[in-house]
Amino acid sequence: MPHRSTPLSPQKGSKSLQEALLEATQLLEKAGVDSPRLDAEVLLSEVLSLPRHQLYARLNEPIDTASHRTFRRLVKKRAARVPLQYIIGHVEFMSMDFLTEEGVFIPRPETELVVEAVLQRAELTQSTIIMDIGAGSGNIAVSLAVNLPHAEVYASDTSKKALRLARFNAQRYLVEDKISFLKGPLYAAFQGLGLEGRVDFIASNPPYVPEGEWKGLQPEVRDHESPEALVAGKDGMDCYRDIIKGASLWLRPGGWLVLELGEGQAAPISGLILKEENLGGVEAIKDLQDIERVIVARRGGGIRLRRAER
Ligand code: GLN
Repeated sequence: MPHRSTPLSPQKGSKSLQEALLEATQLLEKAGVDSPRLDAEVLLSEVLSLPRHQLYARLNEPIDTASHRTFRRLVKKRAARVPLQYIIGHVEFMSMDFLTEEGVFIPRPETELVVEAVLQRAELTQSTIIMDIGAGSGNIAVSLAVNLPHAEVYASDTSKKALRLARFNAQRYLVEDKISFLKGPLYAAFQGLGLEGRVDFIASNPPYVPEGEWKGLQPEVRDHESPEALVAGKDGMDCYRDIIKGASLWLRPGGWLVLELGEGQAAPISGLILKEENLGGVEAIKDLQDIERVIVARRGGGIRLRRAER
């Protein structure tokens, strides 16, 4: 080991990154956090403005007092079960960076399946009209606007705060001109725009938790996310019923309805779709856990649904 005259080892009383991480991990573990070490590392890399992989090369270096203080404060918040994504203020979705805010639904990785289902079916060279019902932080609307050159997106939410954040996320990716942000529940937000019968895609990750299950959700969700974004009636199906019922009024013939689902909802939701005279071509898409996570259906009328499936 080369000798250094100014020691890199901790000054008196100060800890190494490794020690700070260990202390934080133990605290988070005791608080019942699911991935204590990972969360501690994410928080520390945030405080030090370092990519996480660079922490490993520096584990023996001392943490300066100010950073340590900030780190401790963030770890305490996380131990109080504030979601990591609210503490650091952003989250990755479709390889993009979305800002998050307490009270606005945090984008989840499963929802990328909704975006991918649209991207696989959309024509890159043609204009594509998309409705995003319940846009939240704008993750679906913005990632579609970024990936589809001719997208015209209409994104609704009932929450002013969510719409503000969604607009901000759109601005960060320079697609605010391609998205209209509209306030209102379900289809009410889209009235009066002349979109009836013209929409290529209705995409939505609606609330789907049954009322009775709210209390049993993990504290990160129950105490910090918005029940409005998550809960939908006694059986969790209220939004689906309305979205499915209204879909064929808005979709063009051959247009797609793409919905994210909760576990076990694929069968009842396919049932609801097949009851609609003008909808068919139902496909379920599974997530990495083999759960049917997304349902795609098409509006008939002028197209033979079976053969028109992908
Ligand atoms: N569309 C947003 C998302 O998928 C918000 C969903 C919601 O609020 N239920 O993350």
